[in-house]
Amino acid sequence: MIKYVYDFSEGSSDMKALLGGKGAYLAQMVKEGLPVPSGFTVTTKACLRYLQQEKGFMDALWVDVQAALSRLEERMGKTLGSDSDPLLLSVRSGAPVSMPGMMDTVLNLGLNDETRSALAAMSGNDRFAWDSYRRFIQMFGDVVKGVAGEKFESLLDDVKRENVVTYDNQLGPDALEDLVCRYKTLYKKETGEDFPSDPMVQLKLAVEAVFDSWNTPRAKTYRKIHHMADDMGTAVNVMAMVYGNLGDDSGTGVCFSRNPADGEKKLYGEFLINAQGEDVVAGIRTPQPIAALEGVMPDIYRDLSEKVENLESRFQEMQDIEFTVERGKLYILQTRTGKRSAQAAVKIAVDMANEGLISKKTAIGRVTPDQVERLLHSQIDPGYVPEVLAQGLPASPGAAVGQIVFDPDEAVRLSDKGESVLLVRPETTPDDIHGLYAARGILTSRGGMTSHAAVVARGLGKPCVSGAEDLLIDLEGKRLIIGDRIFSEGDVLTVDGSTGRVIEGSVPLSLPSISGELETILDWSDEVSALQVWANGDTPDDAKRARSFGAKGIGLCRTEHMFMAEDRFPVMQRMVVAKELEERKAALEELRAMQKEDFMGIFREMDGLPVIVRLLDPPLHEFLPRVSELDKRIAQAEESGQDASALRKVKDRAENLREVNPMLGFRGCRLGLVYPEIYEMQIRAIFDAMSELTDVDLKVEIMMPLVQTKREMSILKEMVLSIAGEYEAGSLKYLVGTMIELPRAALRAGELAEDAEFFSFGTNDLTQTCLGLSRDDVEAKFMKDYVEKGVFKLSPFHELDRDGVGELMSIALQRGREVRPDISVGICGEHGGNPESIAFCHSIGLDYVSCSPFRVPVARIAAAWSAL
Ligand code: PEP
Ligand code: MG
Repeated sequence: MIKYVYDFSEGSSDMKALLGGKGAYLAQMVKEGLPVPSGFTVTTKACLRYLQQEKGFMDALWVDVQAALSRLEERMGKTLGSDSDPLLLSVRSGAPVSMPGMMDTVLNLGLNDETRSALAAMSGNDRFAWDSYRRFIQMFGDVVKGVAGEKFESLLDDVKRENVVTYDNQLGPDALEDLVCRYKTLYKKETGEDFPSDPMVQLKLAVEAVFDSWNTPRAKTYRKIHHMADDMGTAVNVMAMVYGNLGDDSGTGVCFSRNPADGEKKLYGEFLINAQGEDVVAGIRTPQPIAALEGVMPDIYRDLSEKVENLESRFQEMQDIEFTVERGKLYILQTRTGKRSAQAAVKIAVDMANEGLISKKTAIGRVTPDQVERLLHSQIDPGYVPEVLAQGLPASPGAAVGQIVFDPDEAVRLSDKGESVLLVRPETTPDDIHGLYAARGILTSRGGMTSHAAVVARGLGKPCVSGAEDLLIDLEGKRLIIGDRIFSEGDVLTVDGSTGRVIEGSVPLSLPSISGELETILDWSDEVSALQVWANGDTPDDAKRARSFGAKGIGLCRTEHMFMAEDRFPVMQRMVVAKELEERKAALEELRAMQKEDFMGIFREMDGLPVIVRLLDPPLHEFLPRVSELDKRIAQAEESGQDASALRKVKDRAENLREVNPMLGFRGCRLGLVYPEIYEMQIRAIFDAMSELTDVDLKVEIMMPLVQTKREMSILKEMVLSIAGEYEAGSLKYLVGTMIELPRAALRAGELAEDAEFFSFGTNDLTQTCLGLSRDDVEAKFMKDYVEKGVFKLSPFHELDRDGVGELMSIALQRGREVRPDISVGICGEHGGNPESIAFCHSIGLDYVSCSPFRVPVARIAAAWSAL
């Protein structure tokens, strides 16, 4: 016969699935001799059978409940419903996983007019008995019968007003009796029934209400959001009441074994003398800090501290404990794993490992990638509930407050003056880069998670909300229109790049903190990880930051970003516009010197660690202004009588370079094959830098973008080898490899590996080309609908599509390694910083993931989690 009801003394902490978290912990505490009021747990299995509406099940279950109740009555020497010494009960839900949305507690169950009188006589405290009774009706009505809590509160307010008192505890027995009467009337009016006076009926209704609460819309939604199974059910814990409201030698409180805000190892919490359960959290009276208990009840304080410490050691986790003191005796009503801030999570994990309480691996498992992320960016103060103006994509985490500006030049001008600005644009292009650098945060109405703005913002560690489609941006009029609100340049907004929220005004932010413990946990993470974490970085500053965050290499240096700087852009434009080879070469020579300097800076910063330099990738038109912009400038020049021929030349070239599908067009290694002089210049700049850095331990790798055929790869490899021949024989050590960012490249990886000495998966383009989804458009257009309809769980540009893109990666890896067993393989698309995608990279056996420097710490913990 299946056992559906367990006395606390029959369970243990490893029975969470059956007894729920609360029940399992209560049982364990009883087992270990802790002072837990007696009680029993009705199992989660009983809940599931009840919910299946199996005929006769509740009657059968009730026989077991009654038997458990009789045993409880015997242990307590009291009887439920007795009119001389009544037993009262608390009834609480307890799912296997802690879950808000479940039914709350009902205290003082068993009270009716007779048992109330008996309680008054027994305690010698009439007021206490009336107070317990009115609390019971209120809680029962609210949580069991769904009578809105405010209706009870409003009656309570009436009575307080009539009696001219401010606080509940100032109401005398007569007033409370009057309140009980009004509560009963309310109950009848709302439910159509009299308040049940039979304690067994009360108990049955309460148990059924707990079961039913498993399927409330609130609970269901919570489970859906947190990917929790619907078939766990909840247990019901029935416990003998102990009373913290019996006088000044009684009280109740909650405490944590360590500080949940900062992790300090110290008893933390609060308590109230002469109070019951919910008073501590209800905010009616201000509770006192737990340390003050030492002065009021020194023995209890000592006893509690000791028990809390024991519980923590027993469960090897920070504990959150509810306790009650009844006439000088301490009872523990509940213990569970305590929730904590990100900062506390890190400190507690490291401290516990150092104390020998848990292993380093367990410590790593206690810090989520999400928590590491939260520690690294400014966040909206968790206690603040902002009014949201619009919602976009959470493109780059953290929050930023600033005056809105619509023009990148203006962003630079104001930020030079020390102002904090948010750059607001429909979308951004390389043309806007100086504005992105200058702004605190970025807000766009178009573009997805891998749009220009998003990628650059993540690289810079700046908050960015992209694709906020409700925004109407009037660049001419310098206005931002959201619904019926109009914001002008200079108005202050806040963007929350962690959630995609756009908020009016300045919102309080909490600053990032990188504590010593964070460094420790990340170092431990590296020890257990099979994957290394590298960073994408384009400048010596990026490299420095990446290294300080623990990156073990640069996995992607996008050389085009070096051409965006103010002094290079005009030279780059000259190169792009040049019709004749000689003209182009002249510009390239200038760029060579500049690139050499950049490379030297990066190589020096990464002394001893690998740096992968990728040759030019974007379509050349990206280095020219838009044709419409050029038209405007030509018209202006002509109006003011200036020579517009140079501008016209640029426009001719821009038109000539225009493509319908630039992302599938003239870009990547195709540029290097058609204009070899561009790649030759870049290769020379790399070798120039290497030749000069004789005191640096160089590990340079040259990477070709968008390769898909063996012929492309061998032409480019030959190009590198031949240029290397121009330098002193044997002086250069480097590798040549390719990105895998086209499906054909993945399928033909075997023959690519004949020339390529390493692979790096460019999963931004590989996702775009494998799924046929434009990385720059889909998120703002229809991805939301696709996610809502369940086509994708999340955008495949955010979390790697394991089944499609992932399979291509596995094939490429296998075919590449067959030809070149020691080939080094990593990932440098945006997925390299996404914990779920990192877990996949681990599972197929990549050597490293490369992500933006600011995500390196998150990736380090995620890589370690994959290996736990
Ligand atoms: C990629 O395609 O994944 C990649 C890293 O290259 P980019 O984002 O520069 O196209
Ligand atoms: Mg790419």
